[in-house]
Amino acid sequence: MVRAQRAWAHRRGRARDGDFGEGVGMGVRIETIEVTPLGQNCRILVDDERQCAVIVDPGGDANEIISRLESLQLTLEAIWLTHSHLDHCGGVADLLDYKSVPLYGHRIEHEYRSRVESIAEMYQLPPGAMRNCPEPDHFLEGGEKLSFGGVEFEVRYTPGHSPGHLVFVCEALGVIVAGDTLFAGSIGRTDLPGGNHEQLLESIRQEIYSLPDATRVLPGHGPDTSVGNEKRANPFVRGV
Ligand SMILES: [Zn+2]
Ligand SMILES: [Zn+2]
Repeated sequence: MVRAQRAWAHRRGRARDGDFGEGVGMGVRIETIEVTPLGQNCRILVDDERQCAVIVDPGGDANEIISRLESLQLTLEAIWLTHSHLDHCGGVADLLDYKSVPLYGHRIEHEYRSRVESIAEMYQLPPGAMRNCPEPDHFLEGGEKLSFGGVEFEVRYTPGHSPGHLVFVCEALGVIVAGDTLFAGSIGRTDLPGGNHEQLLESIRQEIYSLPDATRVLPGHGPDTSVGNEKRANPFVRGV
């Protein structure tokens, strides 16, 4: 069932008007809060029936994420990381102080997690805005299935932007939480340590362009798109 998308409001730290997944008969919908001065799309997977939530990529502004959870009376269940650049994991420590829940991410990105504060300082971000990220309780490497709200998210390994990058694919919702792999009309940067341009293109072709065209892509930055749109028009990597 195709559902019209409402316009997204792009205001940092505010929940966007435009929940995804609502009304499609599945147990999960996805909210977005843009966090950090780097404009990272933190995603809140919401199970309204059980009143619980999973947060994907809480890069910062944890207070905004927590107020959203509290206003919806949601219990935080877990935190998933696509990768461990500071704008994706800088708010994890604050969220874990709020509620101790299991953290999921790739083992290989330990060094990024341990250097969030020093890199934030290098970027001249406000002191205390981001904190070093603890090591995950559960290491993922791709191939796992994470269940939430009665649906499954398949974990796929997509290195290139960072060496331990993961994406979360939910076939039932027709959605991929894509982190910094594929953006609307662009792709993730590969000039940071551990980046590899050819590997990123390969990850996108193999793990993202293999999904149905209608699959909605929820990137780590900027507006949502679809697999079909990017296969047709992405100037960096076209699909066949
Ligand atoms: Zn990144
Ligand atoms: Zn990012």
